[in-house]
Amino acid sequence: VPLPERKLIETIRRRAQRGRPRRDGALVRGIGDDCAVLRPAPGHDLLVTTDFSLEGVHFRRDWHLPESVGHRCLARGLSDIAAMGGVPLAAFLSLAVPASLPQEWIDEFLAGFLRLARLHHTPLGGGDTAGSPSGILADMVVLGSVPRGKAVLRSGARAGDDIYVTGALGAPAAVLRRLQPGDLAESKDAGALRRRAPVAPPAQRDGMRKFLYPQPRLAVGQWLRARGLASAMIDISDGLSTDLSHICEESRTGAWLAEAALPIARGSTLEDALHGGDEYELLFTARPARYRQVPEKLAGVPVRWIGTVTQPPGLWLVAPDMKSRRPLEPRGWEHLS
Ligand SMILES: [Mg+2]
Repeated sequence: VPLPERKLIETIRRRAQRGRPRRDGALVRGIGDDCAVLRPAPGHDLLVTTDFSLEGVHFRRDWHLPESVGHRCLARGLSDIAAMGGVPLAAFLSLAVPASLPQEWIDEFLAGFLRLARLHHTPLGGGDTAGSPSGILADMVVLGSVPRGKAVLRSGARAGDDIYVTGALGAPAAVLRRLQPGDLAESKDAGALRRRAPVAPPAQRDGMRKFLYPQPRLAVGQWLRARGLASAMIDISDGLSTDLSHICEESRTGAWLAEAALPIARGSTLEDALHGGDEYELLFTARPARYRQVPEKLAGVPVRWIGTVTQPPGLWLVAPDMKSRRPLEPRGWEHLS
């Protein structure tokens, strides 16, 4: 049985502040007042992103370990900050849980959340808790900053720009295709849950790790922004095809992708890589003249050229022989529907 609300807030506060200084970067005052107080550095713009993580839509209790749900909940917000080239300042978490939820689930959720938060120096600055009539709801707000006017937008791509992507694509979709309910979370015991993760065979372990614990590409986004290399950028949360279509819509362009150039994760298919969601890799464009300045690896993450921005709208996939092409439908991940 979960703790009553007041006690739950106390628990979150205690755990969020463990080992943290009173003033935490831009967070002047965190949990414990009517509002948090933030003081971004002078000459900076504030970034704000909000994300719902809903049981049955973004995660399933029988597929995702509670630690992974907490991790992914924050990773989605951090990934949005990364896609703007920003630095995270603070996170705010509102959590609604059903009365029947075991306290261990909340503890593990917080552990996953706070571990990623510490890794990226993102203090938990506040939030809210409530009972939920059905299912777990987590509402995440992440604040970040960029030097004034330097946020990398989706709308900056021009015809002729090269298209790049970080990492390898398709692993989360491939894992979901293979997962059976109960694979990961058949025990309610928190310790047993931790020992069981990840349970995939070695060949699939990297994919499973990425599915459970995606790493937001903050360092990559900041590097690209600092050098003014990326003309447009987005994080791949809905799938490459759909997120590329977002860049094209905002930039009023089209694009083609070279099938042979796509970095497809081991054990994944072309379809997984094109349309699978929850990647949290960065998709960006750069002026063709800057081709040589884009490194093969950024902050330890491979960067690959995958296509070109075009004047006419529409997305195309160019066959490996580079002679034929077919339309690329933006049909990214529809979560667990
Ligand atoms: Mg995004």
